[in-house]
Amino acid sequence: MADMDERVDQWLRDAHAMEKQAEQMLSGQESRIESYPEIKERSAQHLEETRRQREKLEQCMERREIASSGMKDVAGQFSAMMQSVGSMMAGDEVMKYVLAWYAFEHFEIASYRILAAGAEAAGDSETARVCEEICKEEEATADWLAERMPQMTRDYLVREEGALDEASR
Ligand code: MG
Ligand code: FE
Repeated sequence: MADMDERVDQWLRDAHAMEKQAEQMLSGQESRIESYPEIKERSAQHLEETRRQREKLEQCMERREIASSGMKDVAGQFSAMMQSVGSMMAGDEVMKYVLAWYAFEHFEIASYRILAAGAEAAGDSETARVCEEICKEEEATADWLAERMPQMTRDYLVREEGALDEASR
C-alpha cells in the first residue's frame, strides 16, 4: 500500500508522461491537418500550452523531489490506442485527429481533477492549485473543439464529396 504522498507522486509522474504524449500527438499531425488552418492554428497554440503545462508539472515534481517516469503508463496506452484508431481508416485523418484530440483532452481533465483533489488531501495545496489551473486550459481546449466539431464535420464532408466529384469527372 502506498501512502498519500507516494500516490500523489505517482499521479504527478503519470500526468507528466501524459503531457509528453500530448506533445507528441499535437506535434506530429501537420500533414494530416494541412488544409484545415483553424485546427492547425489551435493545435499549435495548445502545443505551446502543453509544453508550459509539462514545465509546471516539473516544478511541482522538483518541489516534491520526485523523478519523472518512463512512457509505460496509462496515457501512453491510451494514446497508442487513439493512434491506431486514426490509422484504421484512410482518408478521414482530420476527423480522426479531432476525435482523438477531444478524447485526450477529457482524459487530461479527469487526470487533473483526480490529481488536484489528491494533492489537496495530501496537504500540497500548491500542486492542487497548479493542477486546477492546467485543468481549466484543458477544458477550454475541449470546449473549443466541441463547439466547432459540427462545422468541421460538415466542412470535411463537403470537401470530400467535392474531391470525389472532381475525380469522377
Ligand atoms: Mg495538457
Ligand atoms: Fe491538453
